[in-house]
Order: sequence, then structure tokens, then C-alpha cells
Amino acid sequence: MKVPSTGLQSLTQSQLDAWVMQAQIHARSGGKLPDYIPGLAEADPDWLAVQIRNVNGDIYTSGDLTLSFPLMSAVKPFVLLYLLEQLGAERVFDHVGMLPSDRPFNSLAQLRAYEGFPRNSMLNSGAIALMSLLPGTDGSSRCENLRQWLNKNADCHLFLDELILESVRSLQNETNIAIARELADSGYLQASVAVTIDTYNQLCCLAGTVGDLASLGMLLVPFGDRVLAENCRIVKALMTTCGLYERSGSFAVQVGLPTKSGVSGALLSVVPGEGAIACYSPRSMQQETLSRVCFC
Ligand code: GLN
Repeated sequence: MKVPSTGLQSLTQSQLDAWVMQAQIHARSGGKLPDYIPGLAEADPDWLAVQIRNVNGDIYTSGDLTLSFPLMSAVKPFVLLYLLEQLGAERVFDHVGMLPSDRPFNSLAQLRAYEGFPRNSMLNSGAIALMSLLPGTDGSSRCENLRQWLNKNADCHLFLDELILESVRSLQNETNIAIARELADSGYLQASVAVTIDTYNQLCCLAGTVGDLASLGMLLVPFGDRVLAENCRIVKALMTTCGLYERSGSFAVQVGLPTKSGVSGALLSVVPGEGAIACYSPRSMQQETLSRVCFC
């Protein structure tokens, strides 16, 4: 099935319902919850919510819109957008690259292979490097500044999910810490390893509903402000080439929309000039199947 060539504006509720049903059938045959963050493993695998918005203000939804979930890596495009707005592209890209990677999201080998320079801002290494550039004295103030900026500019209601944060903190993520140390050694960390990792953990635990995720997506479909539009273009380009890590290339060929995933089951696609598609499905395969069934 394909989104009609006239785009999101000709979408109907019954089309969306049919796609979601098809995706659920596919996904029940497989897919599992992430288990390395205990709080994420407690999600009901069948939870599902989708919201699609277009620039005319039409909203299509399916599933349980009251479910809230942590953004995890789906926050990364917005860290990049915020810093592009605050610091400008030149300064940002002194600290992070813009090249795709064929390694997993948290690859330390990737960072080492590139002499400690993070290859792109969608990988943990790139996002962690950017965390160190955020304004604020500690993880809490850095996260709170960004949370407020996002809520104001995207008109959403993100909150810090304290329970998931506790769960993230309960198991030290040695890989992320090793990445931060490597960045510090190579001179790409502008704050201490501890503050940077705490900022990263807190920002991954910003949470909201699919409605909030769709609002964030609409922030990347700007009208009017030329500087914001240029920064959004950069963010969307990196979502297309790097947003799904080593699977970005095949997804771009098959689907072709700037997309970012999060290990919680958050998935955001932007339809440039048209709108945003926000999905939540904690079962990893269901998440991917949903986007493929809807948009392939
Ligand atoms: N906090 C998670 C981690 O670093 C985010 C990863 C993700 O969503 N891909 O493990």
C-alpha cells in the first residue's frame, strides 16, 4: 500500500485504520521488547498509537492516544535542531559529523574508527557529544532548558519520566560511558563525562504521547522563518541518511521519509512540506512493520 501521490492531504481515517490493522497482524508474528532498560521491558507489547497531522491542521489517529512513552533516541533530532538554532551550523558541525554509518546506534568501534570524531548526531556518540554543548550547569538544568524550549516551540507537553530515568540509572550503561570517555579523550566533549551522560539519560527520558511526538514532527515542517527552515532542512537530511542507523539506507530507498526511531518504540517520520507521522509501538518489529506497511 502507498500513501497516495497527492500526499497526506488525501489520507482517510479508514485507510489509516486498515494499515494499522495490517501492521498489527504482521507484527504479532514476531518482535520483542528491549530488555536492557528494565522499565522499557514492562511495556505491553500490544500497545499501539499513531497520529498523523498535515499542514491544514487535519489530525488522524489510531490506537490509544493516552499512552505516554519516553522518546529515547527520538529526541536526538531535536537536540540537533535546538543547537543549530542556538549556536549555528558551523559550531555544531565542529563537534559532530554528517556522514552515515553502517554500525549500530551505540557503536564504540565506529567512534574509534573515525579517530574519536562522532560520525553523525543520530548515533549515541554524536548525540552525547552534542549534550555537552547544551547550556546549563548540570544534567537537570540542561534537560529542563531543552524541555521548555521544545514545549514552547512545538506546542507540546513533554515531561521527564522519573520512573524510566530511575530504571535507566539502575543499570550503568557502560557503552555510553565508554563513548563519552572516548569523546573526552579526543577533545570533543565540552563538559564532564558525568554531566554529559546525565544530560543524555535525562533527555532520553523526556516523555509524551503520540500527539506530542507529532507536534515535535510538525516543528520540522516550518513556514515563514528562513533560519528555522534551513535548520530543519539539515535535521531532516540527517534523519533520512542516519535516523535509523545502519538501516537508514534501505529505509530511504523503500520509504523515503526523514525518520527517527527510539528504543522505547517511538517512531517519527516527517513528510516535508506536508506533515508528520508519529507512531508508538514498543514491540520493535511491529514498529518497523507499521512504517513499512503504511509507507512502502
Ligand atoms: N537511551 C538509549 C541508549 O542509549 C537510547 C537508544 C535508542 O533509543 N536507540 O541506550
